[in-house]
Amino acid sequence: MNGEVFPIIDLNYRPNCPVSIMLDRQIKPMLEGKTITGVVWEKYYDGEYSWHGETIPGLEETVGGKIIFADASFLLTDSGKLIFYAVTNGDMRYFQKGAPALLPKTKKAVSHAYHMKLELDDGSCFGLNLYGWGTSLRVYEVDVGQIDTEQQSRNKRYPFLPKSPIDITDPSDFTLENFQAWLSDKPGVNIVEACATSNGAFGISIPVMNYILLISKVHPKTKARALTSADIQSIHDNTCRIIGEYQSGRRICKHIDVFGKTIKPQNDVLWMTSAVFGTACPVCGTTIEAAPAAGTKMYFCPTCQVLKK
Ligand SMILES: [Zn+2]
Repeated sequence: MNGEVFPIIDLNYRPNCPVSIMLDRQIKPMLEGKTITGVVWEKYYDGEYSWHGETIPGLEETVGGKIIFADASFLLTDSGKLIFYAVTNGDMRYFQKGAPALLPKTKKAVSHAYHMKLELDDGSCFGLNLYGWGTSLRVYEVDVGQIDTEQQSRNKRYPFLPKSPIDITDPSDFTLENFQAWLSDKPGVNIVEACATSNGAFGISIPVMNYILLISKVHPKTKARALTSADIQSIHDNTCRIIGEYQSGRRICKHIDVFGKTIKPQNDVLWMTSAVFGTACPVCGTTIEAAPAAGTKMYFCPTCQVLKK
């Protein structure tokens, strides 16, 4: 079923971990169990380019379906409609009953801009604001007869839903063995690219992955074949711990929640972005440096993270 139904879903445009963890946790209880009573689809800007057109095929047919699964990327109904959406953080909104369903508008862009709203049976509403090339909204058909709710993973995901090659939010999927097997298939790939880029295993933000590599004392450009088993174990254990802390709510990363509120970080990891370049390593105090990789820059500590060839 996977091969037939999902090959054109480009998962690269989903929000990455840990923002996706924040949004998953909010969306699931608000949407699951509710029935879609109406849909509204409108183009509010005419730009120079279009990629959605005037309608979304299949969207109207979601009406009447009861939502049996929802997260930051997918919504599945008991009538077999799978809605995939990819929007920028802050452009996914939930409106309580009676609240005006006002979605943000983007500044007029070169591409068309769209609003989508799903009206729900308890009077609430779920909305998306779509514009720019990274956004997407598609409806797929799924054979609900094949869905066995007993077969949800520990993470409460249906196993057939497309996901990253390794789901780091699911401990039964992100095992040391699966991680080792993933790396052994790509001996010549840098560890940061093997984990965090569009072809990587994890669907995790690169600056967060680079922090995990810092505390694991592995240089981001270390080739998979040069990693020792202790290195792999360390990356695995630190990833599990940090992702687990985001899932439990011990860590909160900065994000815009589904009510449009900007949430401040709490116990967040140090995101290894250009902001840390030239500052002191949080572990040893050495000045953080940068190395080009995957079309961007990877920030690292030259003392903690010695490159092994
Ligand atoms: Zn250091």
